[in-house]
Amino acid sequence: MPKRKLTLTISADVLEKAKKKARDTGLSLSRIVENALDYFSEPKVYCFSCGYKFSARETNICPKCGWYKCPKCGACACTLGDEGTRVAFYMRKTLMEIFSSSDV
Ligand SMILES: [Zn+2]
Ligand SMILES: [Zn+2]
Repeated sequence: MPKRKLTLTISADVLEKAKKKARDTGLSLSRIVENALDYFSEPKVYCFSCGYKFSARETNICPKCGWYKCPKCGACACTLGDEGTRVAFYMRKTLMEIFSSSDV
């Protein structure tokens, strides 16, 4: 893939903390931003029932629970118990906050 330069303007505090953590963990900010943007433009998730990784594009959303249906086994949040549903809900809430979008 050809690489292209991207100029961003973000909070100085966030940038400093991110640079430090990236340095400590041996990652580049370019790589982190690239992964985040890749996920943002085409979310890929793991089925919480069978573990199959699939793209949001290749499946439908369950009208009942609002989760992606696994194209392999057909599971969605409807198949989880109360505790499982709660875990999934808060994991997703984290993603929604990171990406400022409910389409994640
Ligand atoms: Zn599945
Ligand atoms: Zn469902």
